[in-house]
Amino acid sequence: MASFSPPPKYMIDLLLTWYDAQARDLPWRVKGGNHHDPYAVWVSEIMLQQTTVATVKDYFIRFMNVFPTVFDLAKAPLEDVLVIWQGLGYYSRARNLHKAAQELVHRFQGIFPSDPAILQTLPGIGPYTAAAVAAIAFDTPCLPVDGNIARVISRMRAIETPLPALLSEVRKEIKTFVGHARHHGDMAQALMDLGATVCTPTSPSCNICPWNSDCSSSKNNTTRQYPIPATKKKKPLKFAHAYLIQTPSGQLWMRKRPDTGLLAGLIEVPMSDWLEDETLLVQTPPISGAWTKAPSLIKHVFTHFDLHVQLWTITIDESSLPIEGFWACQSTIPQLALPTLTKKVIKNTPLLSDKS
Ligand code: SF4
Repeated sequence: MASFSPPPKYMIDLLLTWYDAQARDLPWRVKGGNHHDPYAVWVSEIMLQQTTVATVKDYFIRFMNVFPTVFDLAKAPLEDVLVIWQGLGYYSRARNLHKAAQELVHRFQGIFPSDPAILQTLPGIGPYTAAAVAAIAFDTPCLPVDGNIARVISRMRAIETPLPALLSEVRKEIKTFVGHARHHGDMAQALMDLGATVCTPTSPSCNICPWNSDCSSSKNNTTRQYPIPATKKKKPLKFAHAYLIQTPSGQLWMRKRPDTGLLAGLIEVPMSDWLEDETLLVQTPPISGAWTKAPSLIKHVFTHFDLHVQLWTITIDESSLPIEGFWACQSTIPQLALPTLTKKVIKNTPLLSDKS
């Protein structure tokens, strides 16, 4: 059973001193005691959900160049936001970012609330992001808990609770840090950096860790045991057909997905339903003709299920088709908001590959 006694003050000091010297240089961070822009902190934290820092850096810079303020983001068409987001995945993040920007402008005149409870009333902002924005941008006395921070604390205290219940235990533990910390923003970022650069998932560098002498798992040489993983559930596998209609000049027939649900509002080629029971999947092409079946399945991984797609292709002369969609030519396709699945489908088209 974990205890929740506050950490000694010297541990906080050790961590903050380490952070002063070792803080990562990231495009959304400011130095020299300047205040963080809550908008930049918020955008970066949303991008960093499920995505590595290395990937986010360039996206963040591009995004801030196009939408430098919450007002610019709020008044932009959603399609423009989705195009900038293209390739980052988890597009609901971009849609919520856009919706939340509009709420921030209308409800709060574009001024970010510093209270994490109020921040959580905005679309796409959960407890972690709210605490991160409040602590980093406003020094509000709160600290975020994500997988990195949970790993550090679970090792430091040798917490035996497995994931995901571990997270609520770490939240209680981390509350004992609040109030002790000099600067909650620095403390939050120090914990993030410690988890990302020192207390890494597979090979923690305990010899350079500021908390080495107080770390239970390091003392017992059991760092690899923590955090204790969740028991794995098998992910469902779904099946679908994708129908790629092209013209001899390389135009593709595409359509917009519905405005709600997975990959909402993004562009795809016509597809069947996605079903777990392959036997219920009927191969019904959107137009009749001589379809060519691709020799292998396209495999795609979503967070909660895997998808295997059977691709069919057909080449026809350009004409208006009696199905929903539009023709997209090769030069405009890169400007469309394409999810990675659609990109894979296009890339795996044998007829298109033959042309190039
Ligand atoms: S001493 Fe090692 S296991 Fe403990 S917090 Fe530091 S890096 Fe992680």
